[in-house]
Amino acid sequence: MSWKVWKSPEERAREEFDKAVSLRNQKKWGDAAEHFMKAAELFKSAGKTGDAEISLVLSSLYNAAAKQSADDLLTCSSLAKAMKPDLVLTIPQKITASDLAKEAEILGREMKLRESWTNNKSEETAKECEELAKELYSLGKDEFLLQGLIEAASESPMSKANKLMGIASLIRGEILVLSDPEKASDHLSQAMGYFRLGANEQMIKEAEEIARKSAKVGKCWFCGRIVQGEEIHFVHLNAEVTPYIKTKYGGDSPQSIEGSTVIACRACSSAIEGVSDRIAKAYYDQAVRMMMEMKEELLARIRALESEISILKGMQRAPIDLGREMRRELRGGVV
Ligand SMILES: [Zn+2]
Repeated sequence: MSWKVWKSPEERAREEFDKAVSLRNQKKWGDAAEHFMKAAELFKSAGKTGDAEISLVLSSLYNAAAKQSADDLLTCSSLAKAMKPDLVLTIPQKITASDLAKEAEILGREMKLRESWTNNKSEETAKECEELAKELYSLGKDEFLLQGLIEAASESPMSKANKLMGIASLIRGEILVLSDPEKASDHLSQAMGYFRLGANEQMIKEAEEIARKSAKVGKCWFCGRIVQGEEIHFVHLNAEVTPYIKTKYGGDSPQSIEGSTVIACRACSSAIEGVSDRIAKAYYDQAVRMMMEMKEELLARIRALESEISILKGMQRAPIDLGREMRRELRGGVV
């Protein structure tokens, strides 16, 4: 390694850069990122700021490729934004700094948003999806230049945009289902329309299932109220539905019986659950109390048996002691 000492920082920087490029060509993204970072530091100490910037942006891009991480993509985007927009980078395909900044930002934001649309179904998430979809439409591209590096870039921008618009409608539908199932169906059918554009079978199925459930109407077996929204505003409770009951009420419209279940509105089912929880708690407390009493009783019996055993043991030892006493007598009190 000592020969390197005699080389100028710029020469060493170029060597690191070339090494990084060769690793990049072998798709060793993590190692390439490391060497681009070293090159960036060496270019900086050699006063080559432009080359240092390029090395740094490439380092963050390959870090993102190695880890498939949204944060690295967003770092890459902000570094690329600070460069001259028309500067051409080789990744190995040609990409301008402004395109890299835009694609890395969109993909990074989408990766982050993915967590929200599954865990946090709010109007805020719906709006974010819509905004990102608009940016994707405005890219006007058939494919991402970062395709092959970032997994999320394998889907076309247009298909991603349609999916995001669909997800925004789906979230709005799911929120509305809680307060107004009828209005929710507009959003849900809109969502299905967007998913169909992207031929997104899985999402179509999800939206269809929610739409089907939210449109379903049932009559509460207990209070007779008519409610819309299966598993949302009414549920099915297992019950013993005799043939007589089925014949007499099985034809109710909307239905109050389905198979061996009766329909219960959320109000009735939650009230039933509350009462059964209280009853179960009372039984549980009673069982625990009985177990404690039984334990005390058993302990008392064990103690009684232990004392009987020790008395018996004492009686067993007694004849031996008697023998010793007799011998002691015979020997004139000396053992
Ligand atoms: Zn009810």
